[in-house]
Amino acid sequence: MSKQTGKIGVTTENIFPVIKKFLYSDHEIFLRELVSNAIDATQKLKTLASFGEFKGELGTLNVKVAVDKEAGTLTVSDRGIGMSADDIEKYINQIAFSGAEEFLNKYKDKAASIIGHFGLGFYSAFMVAKKVEIRSLSYREGSKGVLWSCDGSPEYSMEELDRTDRGTDIVLYLDDDSKEFLEQTRVDTLLKKYCRFLPVPVISGKEQEWKDGKMVDTERDKVVNSTEPTWTKKPADLTDDDYSDFYHELYPGQEDPLFWIHLNVDYPFNLTGIL
Ligand code: ADP
Repeated sequence: MSKQTGKIGVTTENIFPVIKKFLYSDHEIFLRELVSNAIDATQKLKTLASFGEFKGELGTLNVKVAVDKEAGTLTVSDRGIGMSADDIEKYINQIAFSGAEEFLNKYKDKAASIIGHFGLGFYSAFMVAKKVEIRSLSYREGSKGVLWSCDGSPEYSMEELDRTDRGTDIVLYLDDDSKEFLEQTRVDTLLKKYCRFLPVPVISGKEQEWKDGKMVDTERDKVVNSTEPTWTKKPADLTDDDYSDFYHELYPGQEDPLFWIHLNVDYPFNLTGIL
């Protein structure tokens, strides 16, 4: 594929300042949106494999969130279905969002909860980034890697990328006023807040250990979430300590719970939870 440039299909002159302005207080949700997309892409690949539509090697399926202080980037990577140039054209470039400004004006208080429902999740990256790249290779046989890049104006560029491993990297070149997201501790806090119980391992940074009077990184990747939360397990397989530990994990510093009820309903609807 030769290098291509074009205009993203938004009807408003420039939607990015609108996104920035109205979601000012909730900038941090970009990470939730990008990690959710990475998880979705991973789950889709698993589903395709279970139907026999993907016959390749699944490999270790996890999502990585990496900060690079020197480059000023935060990258969310997955080994899911990936995107071809056609996919990017369809799902990223053609955002049908007519009257975006008017719409956000009307709902500005609720904008954060609405953003995910209008296919704008990916674009929330521009709340914190001056430039965003998508580096991807689709799971389909014979696919070519693609690099999409956009600096926050409606102009994007798209070109072929030499890439052999399936999946997607979303690279955020952070704005000067969003450098806080280069701090591993800040990223960890957000991942704990939004990604704690997602069904695919989310890795960010390294496990730490105490050495010579201070905490230092080990070689082991740090998994930030629990992919099998307590409420999805069978009550018969759980001890009182499991319930108590779960409670203390959610509410550190509290006394022991007085009692609990494990809901596990199959019919007429499916419901699991712990009160
Ligand atoms: P939504 O997730 O609500 O559909 P987004 O703007 O977040 O809206 O994403 C638009 C589409 O782009 C997704 O539906 C998906 O098809 C594609 N996409 C986004 N991120 C990824 C990814 N990491 N891997 C594969 N496809 C992706």
